[in-house]
Amino acid sequence: GPNTGVSGLEFHKSKGQHILRNPLVVQAIVDKAGVKSTDVVLEIGPGTGNLTVKLLEKAKKVIAIELDPRMVLELQRRVQGTPYANNLQIIHGDFMRVDLPYFDLCVANIPYNISSPLTFKLLAHRPAFRAAVIMYQHEFAMRLVAKPGEQLYSRLAVNTQLLARVSHLLKVGKNNFRPPPKVDSSVVRIEPRHPPPPVNFLEWDGLVRLCFSRKNKTLGAIFRQANTLQALEANYRTYQALQGAAAGGAAAAAAAGGAGGGAGAASGIQSLGTAGEQDAMDQDEAMEEDAMDD
Ligand code: SAM
Repeated sequence: GPNTGVSGLEFHKSKGQHILRNPLVVQAIVDKAGVKSTDVVLEIGPGTGNLTVKLLEKAKKVIAIELDPRMVLELQRRVQGTPYANNLQIIHGDFMRVDLPYFDLCVANIPYNISSPLTFKLLAHRPAFRAAVIMYQHEFAMRLVAKPGEQLYSRLAVNTQLLARVSHLLKVGKNNFRPPPKVDSSVVRIEPRHPPPPVNFLEWDGLVRLCFSRKNKTLGAIFRQANTLQALEANYRTYQALQGAAAGGAAAAAAAGGAGGGAGAASGIQSLGTAGEQDAMDQDEAMEEDAMDD
């Protein structure tokens, strides 16, 4: 049937199993990734291994993380007895829960329902990788690479571009996949900035959440809202108390609920932009689910 692949495997849309079937697109992704013969390449969601076998031709080693045990077996079977069998390590598990190994490059046609958390998990990994070349849902990719002043510029773009340079590489129509998803896709290149900017990411993200919290309000209007001003004032008092504590008494620190001079989340300073408000990145995910839901 249309949803059945090699060996009669049935693909599960709930796991984002849309297999890239056009070999020209697979080759284009591998070429654009610039894989060196010394590279350890991380692949997320290898599926039946169309991309994996091409990566194995170029890389020193491929580490593939796959959730579906049937796909793990299929991939093992596919490389068995080939010269590349020893260069492939398959990790059976959920990418979001796996402790990532060292890798130079990430190349992946990912399950779109975890696009946002997957991207930030990669960007938080140390040591930083050289580049990631990732297939996203087209709309998500456009949000990722949006620039200031553009309609799609959002918390997702700000936070990603704080940590990395991003560029759109190629658009891939839905008919290059089996079964075809409802939406088109795009391949994006992500290069982490070295060194990462010296900001406390939690504090930064609190500010950015606030900036994008009201779609049709200016920054000026957001920063004049009573609840914003209250949060800023409370944080400033906590900050002052902690400064005092660092200079002298531990009592002030205790009063402020802090541990004595620490910054950020541990200090009692509240993140701006309250949790529970639907924000730009959450909306991205809601949008992905809508679009992928057949
Ligand atoms: N890379 C393959 C290709 O290009 O033909 C298949 C890509 S398919 C869009 C996504 C793959 O990710 C599926 O094989 C699915 O089983 C796997 N997957 C889904 N959720 C996952 C997760 N949380 N961790 C690891 N793999 C996952």
